[in-house]
Amino acid sequence: MSNEELFKKIISHCKEYGFVFPSSEIYDGLAAVYDYGQNGVELRNNIRSYWYQSMTRLNNNIVGLDSAIFMHPKIWKASGHVDGFNDPMIDNKDSKKRYRADVLLEDHQEKLRQKADKEVEKAKTRFGDTFDEEMYRSTNPRVSEYMASIAHIDTTLKEGLETGNLEIIKNLIEELGIVCPISGSKNWTDVRQFNLMYSTQMSATEADEALYLRPETAQGIFVNFLNVQKTGRMKIPFGIAQTGKAFRNEIVARQFIMRMKEFEQMEMQFFCKPGTELDWYAYWKEMRMKWHLSLGISKDSYRFHDHVKLAHYANAAVDIEFDFPFGFKEVEGIHSRTDFDLGKHEEFSGKKLRYFDAEANENYIPYVVETSVGLDRLFLVLLSACYAEEQLENETRVVLRFPPALAPVKAAILPLVKKDGLPEMAQKIYDELKFDMNLYIEDKDTIGKRYRRMDAIGTPFCITVDYDSLTQEDVTLRYRDSMEQKRVKIKDLRDILNAETSIASLLKTL
Ligand code: ATP
Repeated sequence: MSNEELFKKIISHCKEYGFVFPSSEIYDGLAAVYDYGQNGVELRNNIRSYWYQSMTRLNNNIVGLDSAIFMHPKIWKASGHVDGFNDPMIDNKDSKKRYRADVLLEDHQEKLRQKADKEVEKAKTRFGDTFDEEMYRSTNPRVSEYMASIAHIDTTLKEGLETGNLEIIKNLIEELGIVCPISGSKNWTDVRQFNLMYSTQMSATEADEALYLRPETAQGIFVNFLNVQKTGRMKIPFGIAQTGKAFRNEIVARQFIMRMKEFEQMEMQFFCKPGTELDWYAYWKEMRMKWHLSLGISKDSYRFHDHVKLAHYANAAVDIEFDFPFGFKEVEGIHSRTDFDLGKHEEFSGKKLRYFDAEANENYIPYVVETSVGLDRLFLVLLSACYAEEQLENETRVVLRFPPALAPVKAAILPLVKKDGLPEMAQKIYDELKFDMNLYIEDKDTIGKRYRRMDAIGTPFCITVDYDSLTQEDVTLRYRDSMEQKRVKIKDLRDILNAETSIASLLKTL
């Protein structure tokens, strides 16, 4: 199955099994906005809980916050979003499609990278055991040419964005012969900047100043920094974590829930002493990768991508990228934001945002290291990594191999037949376990069909209640991945399931 086919299957699976629906579908949908269905909301809540608990419970110097979406308009001037939160866009005159110029270039780089990898792969089979990949990459003329072109794109894009000379970027797109994926033509407009914030009004009488829907959750943390520090008696270094909706008028919204206009972020700002920020940056870079790997996804599916073009506020930045069916793309950003944000809020609000360091006996604006991950992108990571089609004897089963702690339903309780007290016994088990986990109970269809439906939504356990259960107080426990079945006592179910499916069980692996 090609990656494209896989991606299409994941999208239709999400709809068919109640994970993701297009927004306002009966009105023909709303571009780049999605709703989460009965299974999607559970998966999303579990990912969010795992993230939030790993931040706030495993670190006693990190606390939570839930700041409002609406904030004072000056905040976005101070943060630089009013003037600088732009994407360079370019239109194809034939297809009338609009693209982000930097994304067109990054996609081109990815193609070059894949070509280089293909050359290396070919050589590897040709030379066998004696193959020295490093040497080959540095000496083969074709591979060197691809790598030089990738580097040239990096430097030119950086120059264009930093100097604001967008003509350089247009020239680069032309020089590389990049064509519109729809029309196949090179008939491009000039590159222009486009602000990503949505604006609205607070009330009819306060129409003079635009109120923005937050494009990131981070600023809510910065403006509450002193409130939390003082009331929580926090000592530096400490962090504030929050999850919540953010809104961006993405020009090119595509790839399903990868790039949406309304999405959720999970951000943690870590406040530290100036001069220590790069150590904390290295620390969080490692910790966050460890967190991603704790989801049981292969290490090869992740990579770090250091930023070429640092945002105006950062002195170091890296993305954690995942190998989606459409290539490696950012899931999380880790940024060393210096004292930029707190400094700007001091300047614009006229209020001091300083920390008194009793040990050093000095006042300073703390430096900040941020970890920022998209909840919806993580959702897509899990679907991409966990979707599997397995050939069984005379059928194919689709199974979502979610980490059990994140699965929407932890266990399905299935009476073998719909009579003789089996449904009642299943209900009794349900009532005993429902306080600990999300369950599903069903007595329709053959047991085989019910197992398949549970596999398709990633339920790690099925509990089958049969005639023996009535006399022996035991059930059959079926494991999703191995399909192995074993007999267990009903009284032991809670402990067995909690040990494997609770968020705590996953937190313990960190
Ligand atoms: P990209 O370069 O892909 O637009 P970004 O660098 O603008 O992302 P950040 O501002 O660093 O993203 O936001 C942090 C995280 O929020 C991203 O790593 C991503 O997971 C998520 N995110 C950002 N924009 C979107 C979006 N439009 N839809 C879904 N998730 C998003």
